[in-house]
Amino acid sequence: MSLPEELARITGPGFVLTADEPVEPYTHDETQGLAARPDVVVRPGSTEEVSGVLRLAFERGLPVTPRGAGTGKCGACVPVAGGIVLSLDRLNRILEIDRENAFAVVEPGVVTETLQEAAAEAGLFYAPDPASKGSCHVGGNIQTNAGGMRAVKYGTTADHVYGLTFVLPDGTVIEAGGKNRKDSSGYGLVRTIVGSEGTLAVVTRAVLRLLPLPAARGILLAPFPELDMAAEGVQAVFGTGITPSALEIMDRSAVGYAARYAEKEFPFAEAAAQLLVEVDGDGPEEVEGDLMRIGEALLEIGALDVFLASERRRQEDLWRIRRVIAEGLKAFTTYRSVDSVVPRSRLIELVRKVREIAAAHDLDCCCFGHAGDGNLHVNYVRTAAQDTVERWEADVRSAHEATVRVAVALGGSISGEHGIGVTERPFFGIRHTEAAIGLMRRIKAAFDPRGILNPGKVLP
Ligand SMILES: Cc1cc2nc3c(=O)[nH]c(=O)nc-3n(C[C@H](O)[C@H](O)[C@H](O)COP(=O)(O)OP(=O)(O)OC[C@H]3O[C@@H](n4cnc5c(N)ncnc54)[C@H](O)[C@@H]3O)c2cc1C
Repeated sequence: MSLPEELARITGPGFVLTADEPVEPYTHDETQGLAARPDVVVRPGSTEEVSGVLRLAFERGLPVTPRGAGTGKCGACVPVAGGIVLSLDRLNRILEIDRENAFAVVEPGVVTETLQEAAAEAGLFYAPDPASKGSCHVGGNIQTNAGGMRAVKYGTTADHVYGLTFVLPDGTVIEAGGKNRKDSSGYGLVRTIVGSEGTLAVVTRAVLRLLPLPAARGILLAPFPELDMAAEGVQAVFGTGITPSALEIMDRSAVGYAARYAEKEFPFAEAAAQLLVEVDGDGPEEVEGDLMRIGEALLEIGALDVFLASERRRQEDLWRIRRVIAEGLKAFTTYRSVDSVVPRSRLIELVRKVREIAAAHDLDCCCFGHAGDGNLHVNYVRTAAQDTVERWEADVRSAHEATVRVAVALGGSISGEHGIGVTERPFFGIRHTEAAIGLMRRIKAAFDPRGILNPGKVLP
C-alpha cells in the first residue's frame, strides 16, 4: 500500500492531498522567497488520527511538518525536508468557554480572532493579539509564542497557556497542565512545548486563560519629526506610571506602505514616525484621563501633535492601518524582515544602529513594531543598488546578521515573536552558548529520538 493510501486509512480518503495544485498552499508561509514541496499533505480530524499519522511516520522514519494557518514569518511550517505536512486546520472547534474558571478549551485550528470574539460574547477577554489575528491559528500562536499588540500589558501567548494535549512523534498522547491557576508539580511540560515551533510534539488541544473584558479603550496617535524621538517617547509613556495596552511605533515608510495597501488616508502620514498608544480600563473617563497624561508627556519630549480617538470606528480604522503594514511591504517591495527585540530602554540605540546598517548596505529600511516590548520589526528593502539577485541576497544576508549581532550586544535576542524557523537558524549561535544549544539538543532528542518532527528548523 502506498503512503497516501495508508494515511487515508487513518483519516478517510478526502483528507490526503498529493496532486500539485491542492498541495501548493502548503509549500510556503509568509516568508518571501521560501517554498518547498511535501510528498503528501494530511488533514487529520482528531487527536487519535494525529496519533495514527505520527505513529506511521515514526515507524517509517518520515519527516513530518505540522502546519497551522501558514502565516508564519520565518519558514517554520515550510516542509524543507519533504515528507508529510500535517495540517491542523480541521481541528478547529472551541470546545468550551468556562466562565466560572475563566478558561477557554480549544483545538489548535481555531482562528485567534474567532476565539477573541467567543470570549467577548461571554464577557471575557482573550488577550494575545497578533496583527495576523484574522487568519492565524491558536495552535500556531502557541508554537511560536506569538506576541502582538497587547503583549506589552498582558504578556505573550505563553502567559495564557495553562494546559495542553499533545502527541509525541511516536504517537503517544500526553496531557499536561489544565485549569489550575497554580500547579507546582514537576517539570514544566506546557512551557517547554510553547514556542517549540512544532519540533517537539503536535498540539491537539489547549486550555487558555481568559481575563475580564476591559470596559473601555482609547487610542492616541502622536507624530514625531524624528524616528529616534518616537523611540524616546516609549520611555516617556512608561514614565507616566501607566501601562498601555498597546504601544506601537511606525516610521513614515511603514505608514506609507500600509496606507497604499489599505487605500486609506492616514493622519500625519508625512511625519518621520508615529507612536500609536492604546489604553484600556474600567470606563471612558479613566481611559481618557490616562491618554491625556500620556499625550502631555509625549508633547513635552517633542511630539508634533497628539490625536485622541475615542470613537470605536475611528480606532478600528487606525488599527487596520497598523495591521496591514506587513501586507503592504509584501505587496510593494522585495524585503527581508528581522524581528529584533531588545530591553525597551535600548530601543533608541537599536533604531539608530539599524539605519546605519541599512545605509552601509545601500538598503532602504522600514521600521515598525511593538515598541513597548522593545520589539522592532526591521525590514530591509531592496533598492536599485541591488541590481542582481546575488547582490541582493549578499547585502541583505550581511545586514540581517549585523542586526542580530547589534540586538544581542544590546542585551536583546534574535526574534521577539516570529520564531527561528529556517530564516533565523544560521544566527542561533550568536544568541545562545554551545552549552545551552547542547541542552536544547538533548531536550529535542528526548521528545523526538528519530528526529522526524519538523526537521531543519530552530536548532542549527
Ligand atoms: C500580516 C502579518 C502580521 C503578523 N503579526 C504578528 C504579530 O503581531 N505578532 C506575532 O507574534 N506574529 C505575527 N505574525 C506572524 C504569524 O502570524 C505568527 O507567527 C502566528 O503565530 C503563526 O500562526 P499560524 O497558525 O499561521 O502558524 P504556522 O505559520 O502555520 O506555523 C508556525 C509554527 O507552528 C507550528 N505549528 C502550528 N500548529 C501546530 C500544532 N498544532 N502543533 C505543533 N506545531 C504546530 C508549525 O510547525 C510552525 O513551526 C504576523 C504575520 C503576518 C503575515
